[in-house]
Amino acid sequence: MLLISCPNCGSRDETEFHYGGQAHVAYPENPNELNDREWAEFLFYRDNTKGAFAERWLHSTGCRQWFNMLRDTVSYEIQAIYPMGAPRPDAAAPARESGTASLAADSTTTGTAAPSTATTSIAASTSSASTTAPEGATK
Ligand SMILES: [Zn+2]
Repeated sequence: MLLISCPNCGSRDETEFHYGGQAHVAYPENPNELNDREWAEFLFYRDNTKGAFAERWLHSTGCRQWFNMLRDTVSYEIQAIYPMGAPRPDAAAPARESGTASLAADSTTTGTAAPSTATTSIAASTSSASTTAPEGATK
């Protein structure tokens, strides 16, 4: 489950939201000049990005407002949430600095934190079990 932070309502479960596809798909400037191939590409062809992907989301059971989200399609990490019509925030400095920095920080912290806590909890449980076992054995 994703915890999505609606710009109007705050953090809510992803079941309250509706995915709206790729963001920043501009309507053609001169629709009458498009051939069938170009219309098909506008209507149906979308990027299939591995990594940071800008997409539209609707808070369908909340404020019913659309907003944009920058999400990593591999890790599902939500990198940015920004209003409709606003430019994609990752283009230049902010995304590369904060995005990759937060990605690296998150991956390293979760990577080191998860195994260490798992090993400590296992060690604690085995040590406590080993201490209880001799007690039971002596009784
Ligand atoms: Zn909302």
